[in-house]
Amino acid sequence: MKKGLLNYVTIIIILMIIILNSTTSIYAYNILGNNDKTLDILIINSYDSKNEWENHIITGFEEKLKEIKPKDLSLNIDLEYLDIRKRNDKAYLDSFNDLLNKKYQYKDIDIVFAIDDGAFEFVKSKVLNSQSVLYHKQILFTGVNNPVELTGEYKKYITGILQANTDQLFNLILYLQPNIDTINIIIDEFIYSNVIKKRVESSKSLFFRPVKINFIQSNYIEDIENKLKKINDKNQAIVLTGTFMYKSNKSHVKLKDIVNDIKTITDNPIYTNNYAYVFNGVIGGFVDIGEHQGSYVAKEICNILEGNKIEEGILPKSSGMYIFDYKQIYDYNIDILKMPKDSKLLNKPKYALLLPKPLKITVCIVFSLLILIVVYVVYKFIIEIKKSNKNKKLYERAKEREQLKTDFIVNMSHELRTPLNVILSTSKVAELKINTNNYDNKYLLGKLEQINKNSNRLLKLVNNLIDITKFEQGVYEINLENINIVEVVEDIVLASVDYATYKNIDLVFDTEEEIITAIDKDKIERAILNLLSNAIKFTHKGGSIYVYIKREKDKVFISVEDNGMGIPKDKINEIFNRFYQVSDTLKKHEEGSGIGLCIVEEIVDLHGGKINVYSEVNKGSKFEIILPIYMVEENFKNLQIKDIQQIVKLEMSDVDTKEN
Ligand code: ADP
Repeated sequence: MKKGLLNYVTIIIILMIIILNSTTSIYAYNILGNNDKTLDILIINSYDSKNEWENHIITGFEEKLKEIKPKDLSLNIDLEYLDIRKRNDKAYLDSFNDLLNKKYQYKDIDIVFAIDDGAFEFVKSKVLNSQSVLYHKQILFTGVNNPVELTGEYKKYITGILQANTDQLFNLILYLQPNIDTINIIIDEFIYSNVIKKRVESSKSLFFRPVKINFIQSNYIEDIENKLKKINDKNQAIVLTGTFMYKSNKSHVKLKDIVNDIKTITDNPIYTNNYAYVFNGVIGGFVDIGEHQGSYVAKEICNILEGNKIEEGILPKSSGMYIFDYKQIYDYNIDILKMPKDSKLLNKPKYALLLPKPLKITVCIVFSLLILIVVYVVYKFIIEIKKSNKNKKLYERAKEREQLKTDFIVNMSHELRTPLNVILSTSKVAELKINTNNYDNKYLLGKLEQINKNSNRLLKLVNNLIDITKFEQGVYEINLENINIVEVVEDIVLASVDYATYKNIDLVFDTEEEIITAIDKDKIERAILNLLSNAIKFTHKGGSIYVYIKREKDKVFISVEDNGMGIPKDKINEIFNRFYQVSDTLKKHEEGSGIGLCIVEEIVDLHGGKINVYSEVNKGSKFEIILPIYMVEENFKNLQIKDIQQIVKLEMSDVDTKEN
């Protein structure tokens, strides 16, 4: 008995499982049929292939369906364009229906997907008819504005998504722009537009403040433009929806061109409920997203395939969304802070500020001011640093000059003391010899020569000091005369030969021609002598000095070149400084004050010329004076004929000679 009961319960459980299985798969069976592994979908598009909105829906639908469909299920999607813009009369719709019946009689269509009001109206009138090959197929729709009322069994195999309500868009405009008292709705004359008209009228009671609604309706852009030209421009907004044609060739006007045409006629802000327009220069609005609608339908199909019951009637989801074009918002001065929270912004630059225009300007001004202040502070800081560096440099320079002066005084004392000592001791010895009658003439002349030479050294020193003071006070004058400079230089060189010979130095003078130019003969002599005395001083015994004078165009070049000890590269620019001497070691061997080259440079400068130095340590130095060649009208000063030997003697007084 117990066993019999167990068998009975088992049979009941098995029967229940079978019944349950058959009910859950009933809809899947309805769609696909037995063992059918291909899902055949027929999409009926209300318009033609160029309509952007429908294309967005199809894209969203196909992408989503491919993503979520069962892997072993293949898809077969047929697309038919009802194209109600071309014709929408009964005969046309009948012939379209006949075409579908013929075309699809042997194709086992599983799902009919109607896009927009036109297609859905067609499906309702022709497909829900037992004569149709698509009768009792699963029907889905999107983009439908007309209120859909499904009764009885239709609820079981018809479902879809309605377009968003228009009141959201109108309330958005009224909220964003409180000045607006009229909204002009630009629409075409197709079925969809008439539905929109009805929906707007019926949703007026939902507007949060009263506004005048005005329809500008035509299928042709030319008519729309003419009507727009007539409307008053103040406190009005435009809602652009629908698509338009050119009257001439009935071809589609691109959405961008429609918006641009409207903008040339009126400055009124342009909103839309059509997603495709948002990408073409309107401010934005509350729009249905085609891709979203398509993907909802795809999800619903998969839901049915899994054996679930369809959502009866209309899918509860809304594909509506607030969407704006960042650029247009600023162009039309719309307060960005008033935009609904969940708005989507298109064309927003990555780092753009989401602030109202006036606030944005203020922020920009404040930001620019801040940048200016920062730049100013940095600038001031740099200036201060530069100033302190400059002061530091000036201080260093002053310190250096001070040091040079101290060195100079020490050097000068030595310079003064040495010849003075020589003069004093020599004269004392001579005096002693004379007093003791222990002298001959030659001896006395030798002593006098020594006294003479050292007196000249003192005189040169004092002369240089006087000159340098004159330079400092700016009272150093030159007296120009037109003279053969070659002769002047040659005489000086010849007069210096003896001094070179004392050191066994070969002194050679070379020139090409006679060059007459205006110079201060005395000063040029001094300059050349200075260079010569340096060359002799700083050239080793047995060396050679080459003096050369030549003319090049309107300039005369005088160079004094030696193969002596040379000057280190880093010191070359220093040697013209007052009191500067390259190294102390030199001082020990050679006499000098460090003023000579400074005077040479001043003299050359007063003649409008310049001096160059080329030197290499242990190879020699070349000093090159370049003077302009020109004439003066008359001699500026009567020429004083001086004893050249005497001048040379004076300048060469610090050159080491054998007798010294
Ligand atoms: P100084 O009276 O010491 O010769 P200058 O102003 O004439 O003063 O020269 C400055 C320094 O330049 C010299 O002390 C020496 O160090 C260097 N100088 C000048 N002429 C030569 C040269 N021909 N060869 C090497 N060093 C030179």
